Amino acid sequence: ETKNTETVISKTEQYGAQNYHPLPIVISQAEGVWVTDPEGNRYMDMLSAYSAVNQGHRHPKIIQALKDQADKVTLTSRAFHNDQLGDFYEKVSALTKKDMVLPMNTGAEAVETAIKAVRRWAYDVKGVADNQAEIIVCEGNFHGRTMTAVSMSSDPDYQRGFGPMLPGIKLIPYGDLDALKAAITPNTAAFILEPIQGEAGIVIPREGFLKEALDVCKAENVLFVADEIQSGLGRSGKMFACDWEEIEPDMYILGKALGGGVMPISCVAANREVLGVFNPGSHGSTFGGNPLSCAVSVASVEVLVEENLVDRSFKLGEYFLGELKKINNPVIKEVRGKGLFIGVELNEPARSYCERLKEQGLLCKETHENVIRFAPPLIISEEDLEWAIERIKNVLSV
Ligand code: PLP
Repeated sequence: ETKNTETVISKTEQYGAQNYHPLPIVISQAEGVWVTDPEGNRYMDMLSAYSAVNQGHRHPKIIQALKDQADKVTLTSRAFHNDQLGDFYEKVSALTKKDMVLPMNTGAEAVETAIKAVRRWAYDVKGVADNQAEIIVCEGNFHGRTMTAVSMSSDPDYQRGFGPMLPGIKLIPYGDLDALKAAITPNTAAFILEPIQGEAGIVIPREGFLKEALDVCKAENVLFVADEIQSGLGRSGKMFACDWEEIEPDMYILGKALGGGVMPISCVAANREVLGVFNPGSHGSTFGGNPLSCAVSVASVEVLVEENLVDRSFKLGEYFLGELKKINNPVIKEVRGKGLFIGVELNEPARSYCERLKEQGLLCKETHENVIRFAPPLIISEEDLEWAIERIKNVLSV
């Protein structure tokens, strides 16, 4: 059976649940910022698997770590120790400046873990009465697709047909300090937010909000939890988007690029007062903390640091954003971003623009209907970025 774009798509559509609406392109190979379809056409990846491939596709150091570890041991479960997990903990602890780390596999699982942690903290440490804990989240959030994560969503499409939702969740407008203050009660366990909302269309809160919100939470004994699954690990031009306001949240939720686009690995990181609430048997995952993912993750974090990818994201992002802002077209409502985390909001659906960019050899995906997200791997060269900007101008200029 020959594999070509048509046969691959038709088989995928025949047998797969239709829970995605991908662009009609098949990727069969990838390296760095470039991907190739079965016919040999090359495209630049401007999505980076929703920022999971910040280090670029198949980064040689990460692939080497994968191969080396695959030759030793891949899975032990947490019934036994493995000799990679400690190194992973140490790496993440140093990166986040938090005492403790709890490993999971996907972002949504790490969000689940965060919710369990803050709820138990509310009961065991803060002294909230049983089953009364409340969590505050923001409109437009995206924390994943599990029942807990969709229960936190303000998007009815994410919840339709999946009820009943998890109770104990309060929504406030993103970036609204007064609404946060008003939502807090003695039962509030945590305020959970993305410091930059990715899926909402690269939405950045007004300057000062993160800092002020953290201060409010501190004063009210409410945990401030930053979901940096997408915004973290260099994407926004800082290691964490929280660094833009020089704040240290009580808890980080990390995923995506933590596995360098090679292995799924996620985690929460917090101090002992919070993560110490877990005792043996209270939480876990068969694959969480497996040695293959841990070895890959250590290499993935090292690549970010060794190759100065955070700085690179900052500098190239500034330039890219400036070039995009120069495009004069009434269809563009707003160009915004930090680092290589950029959204171009249009006055009309973005899908057809993404399709035209694809014709030009550039892969990106609309998010929330009207926004084109540009989030290339952070390793992108100046030359490749120029190439991309030229094509974006072709499509977006009038
Ligand atoms: N949280 C944020 C901020 C995300 O952007 C995502 C994924 O896009 C998730 C959570 C869910 O991660 P996963 O798809 O790995 O479950």
